[in-house]
This record gives sequence, C-alpha cells and structure tokens, in this order.
Amino acid sequence: MLSTMQDVPLTVTRILHHGMTIHGRSRITTWTGEAEPHRRSFAEAGARATQLANALRDELGVNRSDAVATLMWNNAEHVEAYLAIPSMGAVLHTLNLRLPAEQLVWIVNHAADRVVLVNGSLLPLLAPLLPHLPTVEHIVVAGPGDRSLLDGAAPQVHEYEELIAGRPTTFDWPELDERTAAAMCYTSGTTGDPKGVVYSHRSIYLHSMQVNMAESMGLTEKDTTLVVVPQFHVNAWGLPHATFMTGVNMLMPDRFLQPGPLAEMIERERPTHAAAVPTIWQGLLAEVTAHPRDLSSMASVTIGGSACPPSLMEAYDKLGVRLCHAWGMTETSPLGTMSNPPAGLSAEEEWPYRLTQGRFPAGVEARLAGPGGDFLPWDGESAGELEVRGPWIAGAYYGGASGEPFRPEDKFTADGWLKTGDVGVISPDGFLTLTDRAKDVIKSGGEWISSVELENALMAHPEVAEAAVVAVPDDKWGERPLATVVLREGAKADFETLRAFLAESIAKWQLPERWALVPAVPKTSVGKFDKKVIRKQYADGELDVTHL
Ligand code: AMP
Repeated sequence: MLSTMQDVPLTVTRILHHGMTIHGRSRITTWTGEAEPHRRSFAEAGARATQLANALRDELGVNRSDAVATLMWNNAEHVEAYLAIPSMGAVLHTLNLRLPAEQLVWIVNHAADRVVLVNGSLLPLLAPLLPHLPTVEHIVVAGPGDRSLLDGAAPQVHEYEELIAGRPTTFDWPELDERTAAAMCYTSGTTGDPKGVVYSHRSIYLHSMQVNMAESMGLTEKDTTLVVVPQFHVNAWGLPHATFMTGVNMLMPDRFLQPGPLAEMIERERPTHAAAVPTIWQGLLAEVTAHPRDLSSMASVTIGGSACPPSLMEAYDKLGVRLCHAWGMTETSPLGTMSNPPAGLSAEEEWPYRLTQGRFPAGVEARLAGPGGDFLPWDGESAGELEVRGPWIAGAYYGGASGEPFRPEDKFTADGWLKTGDVGVISPDGFLTLTDRAKDVIKSGGEWISSVELENALMAHPEVAEAAVVAVPDDKWGERPLATVVLREGAKADFETLRAFLAESIAKWQLPERWALVPAVPKTSVGKFDKKVIRKQYADGELDVTHL
C-alpha cells in the first residue's frame, strides 16, 4: 500500500525560504577586527542570496549542476553562497584554504569549478594558482584585499557587492529532486589524492534536522553559535544550514581565528554555543589562563574532529563551559555521534559518558567489524573498525565530471556501509569510544596500544601543553610508541617524570621508551595532529630522541 502523504522534496531552497521569512530577524554577525562587527539579518542575507543566484545565472551563466567554488572565511557572504548556490540547482564546492597549492589545483580541476567566490584577503593564495585552473571562468571577490593581484588574470573578475546590487530579490527557484547534488567537499587526503564527497539536498536537510535536535546541538532562536569550525571543513559541521532552519544567530569570526580575538568576541558578543576542533580550545585555554576573560556565556561547546583530552574538558568545566564531544567525518556530513549522557545521572556518573565520542542518532546505524570479518558485540570491550550507514552518510566518492562515482574496497563494504577507518568499542547502551585511527594504532608484539590513550594521559600532566604519540618500527616488537611532547612555558618535567606519571594510569608494557621534545605538534589543514609528518620526521632522523 502506498502512503497518502504529500511528497515534498527536502531541499536547501526550503531552508532558505523558511529562514529568511519565519526567522527573518535572526542575525549573522561577522567579526571585522574593527570597533563594531558587521550585522546582517536572516531576511537581508536571504534577499542577498536570492540576488546572488540571479547574478550567477544571468551575468555569469551558471547552469544547473555547475560547480561553484568558495575560497572564503566564515562570514555572512559565505552563508549567502551556502544558500544561493544549491537552491539554484548548482553545486557549492567549499575549498580548504589551508591545503597546499598543488592539492587545491588538483581539487578545483577535478571538480571542474566554473566560478570561484573568494575573499579579498585570500587573493594572495588564489592568484598564483589561476594559470593552472583552466575550468575557472569567473572570479567573484568579496571583502577587503588587494585586487591588483588579479591584474592580467584569465578569468573575468567581478566585485561581489557590485555583482548582486540591484538584482531582483525573487527567483523562480527550480523544483529540484531532493537527491540531486547540493554541495561537495573533498577529504583532507592524508594519503593519496583527495576524494570528493557530494552531499544531496535531502542529506543536508535531514542532517540539519538532526543537528537541531535536543539530543544533538539542540539550539533555538534564543541562541547564538560561534562557528569557529571553518565553512570548508564539512560545511562547518552543518551549522549554516541548520541554523537557518531554526533561527539560531550566527557569530562568524572571518579571518580572526587567533585565541586573542576569539576570546574578545566571546566576551563581547556572548555566544551561547560554539563549535571547533580541540586545537582551537587548547589555544583559547592558554590565552584565558594568561589573560583571564569571561567565557561563561557559552553554555555548551561542540568539540570534535579529533579526540578531546579529558584534561581539556575538566579545564573548561572550571570556566563554566561544558564541552560536548562529537565524532564525524567528511563522509558523514559530519554528525555521527554526540556525547550527551543518558538522563538522570549525577555529574560524577555523567563524566565517563562525556569522555566517550557519544551516542549514534536515529539516522546513523553502526556496527563494529572484527579482524576476521565478523561483527563484534556492543559490550564496551570488543574493539573493531566502526562501520556506519544512513541517509547523510556517503555511499561513494565523486568520479569527476566525466567519471562514475567510485567505491574503494577499503572505504565501502560490499553491502554498502562506510568503513570509517576508526577503531573503537561500543557500550551496551550505544556509546562509542574510539581508541584510534586504524592506521595510527601501535601494533606491539601482537597487541594493540592506543596512541590516543597515551596522548590523553600525557596531556593530563600539568606541565604538558600538547603530546602526540605515533608508532615507530622496533626490531623486537614490530612497533613501539614514540612520545613527542610540547612542554608549557617554564616547565621543568623531564621524561622520567612523565613516564612515571603515565605509569599511574597505563599498563607498563604500553609505556613509551622513545621520547622527543618538540616546539609544536605538526597539524593538518583542519587542525588535527599530523602523525604522518611525525613518523616521517622520525624516519628522517629529524627528532632528538631520548631512549629510556
Ligand atoms: P575529517 O573527514 O577530516 O573530518 O576526518 C574524520 C576523522 O577525524 C574521523 O574518521 C576520526 O578519525 C577523526 N575524528 C573526528 N571526530 C573525532 C572525535 N571526536 N574523536 C576522535 N577522532 C575524531
């Protein structure tokens, strides 16, 4: 029997229309580095997004399914692009501005971007790449920056404000199939070429609803979220679309991502929520420890992208800021889990739950694959590779303009589940604890050592600012852990002291013998520990290693 319900496609166009009308008074505030930030209502941003769609179609000739790239910070214009491009049937392609030049070139060519929307301050990055980007026909520049860098460039150059000025604030939006492409994002690509994940209107709509559920971020019109996670990192974890759905105010840091300005914008604008990777929160903590600031308006903070050290969570608890751990990937839109503890627990009972990566929402099914291809029980002990499926989880990668979508065997199972490459355990009540990336686990004499557990234990030492642990080859055991440590200013702890400290919580056979002090842990383009670089530094003899 067929249902008798209406079949209205779930599209970004509907999110745009809803946000600019029902929540027209909500605001996007963009930090400018000047006395006053820039403020724009959802009604204005929606009208300008509509003007942008008109300009892209009528002036630049953008057609349905064309890829339109953005090379932008988090700001109101970038949100307008998020709304306009998918709604007109084109595909929003966010470019990671921290990638090396050759990867950016590869990605733009692979996606065959026809237009690039760019912030003026990023022209020094874009201009030298243009001779290598044959598909790019138009550049649209927004915000301050030196336009002369584009002198002589092959693509046509437009000013964002001039381009949209005077255009109609209505558009005959196409009635899109909800399964068509709306946005794309390439994985950070630590090994091999980057891979494109193409989100559909339907996946974005459903993911936005999940982000908004009380069990996830649960924000409302009364909230303001500080969106530190870049709009090029998995669509800023879905926040721009999710907030337009519920009228949550957005505070956008633009290019002011250093701890000092972040602390200032929190104190002045008093956001109730924020989202970013642990590295950002580590930096901000050091800043407010040196120069105290009031961060307590942030009732909750979503932290993910890499494991949140318990010591960091504790430190923020003391500042009145509750960090909530979340796990996800580019391939999962990204919301895969969030660690809101079950109801009815005391703060003490909640603590172990808060340290996990969290629970799966209804839209994400999960299973743990054991080494022999069997599926493991959710007993909180059996560790296996996490596999997931659901309506906002990728089922393939983009094959390029002329290629077919492809499903590498190491990323997708024969029955269509995504192999996450993350190793962990799941408790009987569905809380996931990740112990490592499959490729970062230390395989020592047939046993596995979790690099994340060692890092968390090390970072709990008051004199340790950061610590990253990687597997290095060992004649006797196959692999052993190497601990690289960044000490706080003025710290006196030596390696023996740190090893003894670790021994309080870690089994003796797991303790590292190899230690190195480093000035900073190398980071990936989205702020995660870059263990590939550390392994290479070790292999190339660049680290000053002490054996204990
Ligand atoms: P990306 O696609 O660049 O966002 O990277 C996704 C990967 O980041 C995941 O597969 C995990 O390895 C890691 N990751 C994301 N969130 C967490 C978390 N809360 N704890 C530990 N690792 C995480």
